[in-house]
Amino acid sequence: MGRADSGARGEEPGELGRQSGRFAIPGRRHSLLVNDGAVRGSEGKPMAQASHAHQVTNQVPLLADYDAYAADPVLKAVVTAFDAGWANERLHEAGRTVGAAETIEMARLANRRGPELRSHDRFGNRIDQIEFHPAWHALMARAIGQETHALAWNRPGPGAQVARAALQYLWYGCESGICCPISMTYSAVPVLKQDRALWAQWGALVSSKTYDKTQGPAAGKLGATVGMAMTETQGGSDLRQTQTIAYDNRDGTYSLHGSKWFFSVPHSDVFLTLARNEEGISCFVVPGWRPDGERNGIAIQRLKDKCGNRSNASSEVEFRGAIGHMLGDPGRGLRTGLSMNHNTRLDIAAASAGLMRQAVMLAGHHAQHRTAFQRLLIDQPIMQNVLADLAIEAEAAAWLAFRLFAAVDRQEQSESEKLLARIGAPLAKYWVAKRTPAVVVEALECHGGNGFIEENPMARHYREAPLNSVWEGSGNVICLDVLRSLEREPGSLQALRAELHAVSGQDRRYDAALQALDNDLHDLIRHEGQARLLTERLALMLQGALLIRHAPHAVADAFVATRLGGHWSGHFGDLPLAVDVATLAKRAVPELA
Ligand SMILES: Cc1cc2nc3c(=O)[nH]c(=O)nc-3n(C[C@H](O)[C@H](O)[C@H](O)COP(=O)(O)OP(=O)(O)OC[C@H]3O[C@@H](n4cnc5c(N)ncnc54)[C@H](O)[C@@H]3O)c2cc1C
Repeated sequence: MGRADSGARGEEPGELGRQSGRFAIPGRRHSLLVNDGAVRGSEGKPMAQASHAHQVTNQVPLLADYDAYAADPVLKAVVTAFDAGWANERLHEAGRTVGAAETIEMARLANRRGPELRSHDRFGNRIDQIEFHPAWHALMARAIGQETHALAWNRPGPGAQVARAALQYLWYGCESGICCPISMTYSAVPVLKQDRALWAQWGALVSSKTYDKTQGPAAGKLGATVGMAMTETQGGSDLRQTQTIAYDNRDGTYSLHGSKWFFSVPHSDVFLTLARNEEGISCFVVPGWRPDGERNGIAIQRLKDKCGNRSNASSEVEFRGAIGHMLGDPGRGLRTGLSMNHNTRLDIAAASAGLMRQAVMLAGHHAQHRTAFQRLLIDQPIMQNVLADLAIEAEAAAWLAFRLFAAVDRQEQSESEKLLARIGAPLAKYWVAKRTPAVVVEALECHGGNGFIEENPMARHYREAPLNSVWEGSGNVICLDVLRSLEREPGSLQALRAELHAVSGQDRRYDAALQALDNDLHDLIRHEGQARLLTERLALMLQGALLIRHAPHAVADAFVATRLGGHWSGHFGDLPLAVDVATLAKRAVPELA
């Protein structure tokens, strides 16, 4: 596409532009290139020594070697508000790691040189190993070393879940692929703990701070990761259709036969696997390898050639007599599996908020350094409106996700927090994941063409952005889960409404929106087809309540004015005149020391 000579309001197109059309070479009419290499004016006097060397101008400095935690005022506020201030030092360390130029380069490499399946060795024996670029292992070692997978379980106490989620948020903005095994391992812990013998076998390994890249038997390993084997070809939403069969070996083990259509991190040490036995669908713990070093009857058919999330290996797999132990009650596998899903869903909300924030920060950084029409982008009124709106969206996402992790932290002491966490996990998963692609696309556009090239992490973030809305329950299924929690645990709606009503009386537009929601709730809940609208409205109200309670007034005011009180289009850059967009746009810019 050709660029117009001028699109800025109040500026005249260049004289040449008017005379010679849009694609004329600027300055040609006034200067003349003669063969001594000097550029001359119309009178033939030299203007400057012509240089044929490539000149790089108006490019933005790399955002690297900074502390991504220190640069993020919202994350710091969230961590403080939700009892996780004790983790500050650790979060700064993680912030410096993910902000380091070296880590950013590793993330690029791990995605450019993605995993490869080595199904057989050179002699024709099946080995089913995955080969990675060393950058993948280095990233995994760093994230696991910082307990991104286990901090909440290793150091239980106030703010433990929030602190771990903050690590996930930071890492997801840097390299999202590694966050898949990290999140599955984190989420599996409470499920594994239900079985004393299995926990004795796996607990220390999955809580370990050591990443062990060995693809082999768990005995002798220094750390382990957990995978999840649920989705089959016939569908991942309706897991009641699971076809994989578990045959009882009558010795406490089962042999699993069947196939899984999406099977990420196939080199994991152990998998929580759904399979059908006599009692119905049960959950099984299936190690990746047998003690003798052989693969545990797990044959990887091929790796998925994915749209994004490319550093991470996802596969299609066959279980050919894989040996497993049942976890939980027979025939209650869906319940066991879904309790792991509950954790991954909430984790996705924190991860998506982290991706949003990183995209917004990159856009803010770009706009702060890039000039168009003789002015920095960040000083241009429309760009200010866009950046301010993006910053508000990312801020609202973070408060929503972390409020629910705080509820998980507090659920042992408070029934209402437990109920809030129950309804809040799908609510936050749906809404934050749903808003992420919109935020990332807009943040990419703030970069112009520079955002659309592979060397810019924006391109990777763009491909990653839709994924969190798809896996761990796609949008509609998540909204059905919101309905299910309202139906099965009516107290969850009361807990949520109490949270919403706690801030009423502070903003008349918020109060009106809350009243309207209260009026509509009955109908919204009754009609399955309205489940998205219901979820969206509940999520927006909760975000509004959290911003009113915790965020600077200007942020809460702009959020309520648009998302709750106005004619919101859902696009960015629509903030009304009364909003101080110039000041709010600065919240998109990383706070660098
Ligand atoms: C990169 C990637 C990695 C993955 N890794 C794993 C993994 O490691 N382990 C694993 O088990 N799974 C994994 N998955 C699978 C993932 O969890 C499923 O794709 C997801 O649960 C949706 O299932 P499906 O793809 O079969 O879609 P379907 O179940 O066919 O659903 C298709 C669409 O229909 C909608 N839908 C379904 N039911 C209803 C309904 N009742 N009403 C209205 N709409 C409905 C869904 O929301 C969705 O939009 C992975 C997926 C991806 C993309």
